[in-house]
Amino acid sequence: MFIGGSVGIMAQDLKKYWKNYIDGQWVDSLSGESIVIENPATAQPLAEVARATEQDVDMAVAAARRCFNSRELYNMRPTNRGVLMFEIARHLTEMADEIALAECLDNGKTLTGGKNEALAAARYFTYYGGLADKLEGRMIPLGADYVDYTIPTPFGVSAQIVPWNFPLQIAARSVACALATANTVVLKSPELSPLSTYFIAEACDRAGVPKGAVNILCGYGHDCGASLVAHSDVDHIVFTGSLKTGQSILRAAVERVLPCIMELGGKSAGVVFEDADVDQVINSSAAGIFSNAGQVCSAQSRLIVPTKLRDEIVEKLAAKAKSLSVGPGIDGNDITPVISGPQAEKIEGMCLAAVQAGAEAVAGGRKSAELAGHFIEPTVFANVTADMTIAKEEVFGPVLSVLTYDDVDEAISLANGTDYGLCAGVYTKDLAMAHWAADQLIAGQVFVNEWFAGGVETPFGGTKRSGYGREKGQEALQNYVQTKNVGIRITSGGGGRPGG
Ligand code: NAD
Repeated sequence: MFIGGSVGIMAQDLKKYWKNYIDGQWVDSLSGESIVIENPATAQPLAEVARATEQDVDMAVAAARRCFNSRELYNMRPTNRGVLMFEIARHLTEMADEIALAECLDNGKTLTGGKNEALAAARYFTYYGGLADKLEGRMIPLGADYVDYTIPTPFGVSAQIVPWNFPLQIAARSVACALATANTVVLKSPELSPLSTYFIAEACDRAGVPKGAVNILCGYGHDCGASLVAHSDVDHIVFTGSLKTGQSILRAAVERVLPCIMELGGKSAGVVFEDADVDQVINSSAAGIFSNAGQVCSAQSRLIVPTKLRDEIVEKLAAKAKSLSVGPGIDGNDITPVISGPQAEKIEGMCLAAVQAGAEAVAGGRKSAELAGHFIEPTVFANVTADMTIAKEEVFGPVLSVLTYDDVDEAISLANGTDYGLCAGVYTKDLAMAHWAADQLIAGQVFVNEWFAGGVETPFGGTKRSGYGREKGQEALQNYVQTKNVGIRITSGGGGRPGG
């Protein structure tokens, strides 16, 4: 099959077997086993990857430890670490078409979406490469007899675990922060869509990153992931994924008091005020919930609307959802597949339960009956109340719940009324109201009039059960270093005069 558009590459060009990258080498798993990767758009096998288990994790952690202990990254002038990272970005950009194909076939995205992943990943390396030489300590005045300063120091071996929805971009944001701060990395890619993450390894290899600085392997969560986070030589954990897995990783981290960054799930709400531009609400909401088939941690999965605008908004949202094409990403459809059969079953089950509970599916609500892959129709539920499971739990699919309110305090309380606190949104022309609402909403980031407003530069992370720590933006780097204070007595007597 020829892949058109901006990607001049054939689907059959995709490599059928992928190795892990440990200590600067492409290697099979020690067990010789592999994991079969499926194309979610066809439900057919696509490729195999070497299946890493505990022994492979041991090798990777040992390589990362050797590299860290060698101080090769740490001793490098930070500006040169930055230049190395620009090289990684350059190679990722050069491989963008190959990456787009891999991401389209193993993850389900459109080719444009896959290419955007590659470019976003490259952007993380340029952004944090540019910051590598700007992470400074400070001097603390203690009077004439002392010199006191702080040094931001890396933790050591950073274990990073990545989910399947944006595997490359999420891997890039964590690996880039780690390299900028001279940590070394063992990254476990997601077993459902690992292929694009290997391109980070390839880019590091081509850029001449020291052996062992970045190790990327794929395995199942319950053995490879669990043994990585419990490994006695890991110093730092970055986890992006579900609440349940995050909680189990935290239990493992408690034993060794490991610092963790936890980027977990969400149930984020947009609040519409009466003066909002309704068409802007519809377009922003469609992007907020239907992009990447709703498999976005920061998806706008709830919309809280004033009773007065309810009918107009529900009608327009339903029309928008019905206008979207559902089908394989490779054909450029609007609604691409969800990642797996079990995920599609789970989403459909939540939709059916919502109807049973009294919600009205004004669009969608089912798996696609015609398509062979794992497709969920773009879904809009009206008549949703705060007590329904569909209003409280993460669906991780193209499913929007519309709730109504009569006064703004009720709207804020509905928005804040779940266990999660990743993102929130406000739709209004009144900036004073937007500012007030942003302050009231309990979330790591608030979007005003455009869901997903922000980028690599803007700090991202959760409150409540959405986790803690920040990725993206300058703030992220603070999670990859710990402050060492050096206090020096420079005189033997008083008054600051040497020898005095
Ligand atoms: P998941 O928790 O099932 O898996 C995430 C990763 O953890 C996978 O690589 C998996 O293999 C691994 N894993 C599973 N069990 C493990 C264990 N016991 N020990 C170590 N690793 C283990 O999540 P998912 O289904 O891949 O991703 C969807 C979830 O991720 C959603 O909840 C979504 O909101 C969240 N997410 C959050 C962000 C964010 O930045 N906050 C971004 C993307 C996705």
